[in-house]
Amino acid sequence: MRHNIKKATRYSNTGKTHTQKLNADSIKQNLSPVDFYRHELPSTPLKRQGWNDGGLCCFHGDNNPGSFRVNLTTGAFKCFSCGIAGGDIVAFVMALYGLEFVEALAKLGDDWGLIW
Ligand SMILES: [Zn+2]
Repeated sequence: MRHNIKKATRYSNTGKTHTQKLNADSIKQNLSPVDFYRHELPSTPLKRQGWNDGGLCCFHGDNNPGSFRVNLTTGAFKCFSCGIAGGDIVAFVMALYGLEFVEALAKLGDDWGLIW
């Protein structure tokens, strides 16, 4: 078990069985885009709801800050330089790690202690 106890406690939900099948809705209910992107983009000051400057794009060899945006309300992301974009944090994980949808859900659930 490599679950982070603090995260697992923080994000544990109530009233749901632990055998519940992990799905995108349950991931998004339990993991806010703010927490996710602060973890994924630790060197970037992400402060506001809505669109934020995401710092250097992690999808191309970016040396021109200002092109990459993340939306801390919806989890959407977009790079105006390389053109990559997605609508939520699941799409981000799929794009960044080259995963299928269900693999991205599993990774998020595992990384953030959402699977029991
Ligand atoms: Zn880019």
